[in-house]
Amino acid sequence: MIAIRRPDEIAKIGRSARIVGEALELAGGMVRPGVSTQEINAEIERLIIARGARPSFKGYHGFPASACISVNDVVVHGIPSDRMLEEGDIVSIDVGAYLDGYHGDGAWTFPVGAISTDSQRLMQVTREALEVGIAQARPGQRLGEISHAVQSHVEDHGYSVVRMLVGHGIGSQLHEEPQVPNFGSRRQGPILAAGMVLAIEPMVNAGGLDVYTAKDEWTVLTRDHSRSAHFEHTVAITAEGPQVLTLANGAVGAAGVSPHGARSAGERG
Ligand code: MG
Repeated sequence: MIAIRRPDEIAKIGRSARIVGEALELAGGMVRPGVSTQEINAEIERLIIARGARPSFKGYHGFPASACISVNDVVVHGIPSDRMLEEGDIVSIDVGAYLDGYHGDGAWTFPVGAISTDSQRLMQVTREALEVGIAQARPGQRLGEISHAVQSHVEDHGYSVVRMLVGHGIGSQLHEEPQVPNFGSRRQGPILAAGMVLAIEPMVNAGGLDVYTAKDEWTVLTRDHSRSAHFEHTVAITAEGPQVLTLANGAVGAAGVSPHGARSAGERG
């Protein structure tokens, strides 16, 4: 069953999601050559705790950190470490925060210094795929409209959507029904209704769609070691349309906004 949230519940998810937006903004400001992924994780954790929340991911099925930090061919679930970011890398940072009974979840891919035009394009297409997916999150539509919009945008640009991992409902649990695949037919899935809250999160590979999990049982990599990008927002479905909650400034966002609000984090550096 897909939860329908009351406005006061959506407001609480929004408070958690805003902390996620703030954490992503902070993280984006730290991304540069020579910084370790563990340093970024530590600052994210500090901010979440300073806001009175707790990191949703830490201890989730045993995950050891507050953020998933995934560099280059790591798709998702990278474990922060002493690995230092290098000029030309791309780094995907995924953050969850839990406050007052509700979770928020968001992710953003950042460039490390100057990056190749290929990597810029991968990030841009993935961000756009999130935007076109969010635009379909409206009452009366089938969930498959989101999936189809994301997949079409990605494949029209010659990239692959990851199928092993999907987006999800979010609320009192980090992962709730429904699953939100980034692929599939527009006629599939439940009909969306106002009050549903979804984490929409395209994971896009520059090469093939196949991925595998490393020996640490977390790190998911592309099989062909092509690069991968990941953008995610927590989105409430309202009668007026999609409402992006994972924004640092707490503003009500339309499709296409970065965690910074008007600025686009993906275009830094
Ligand atoms: Mg998620």
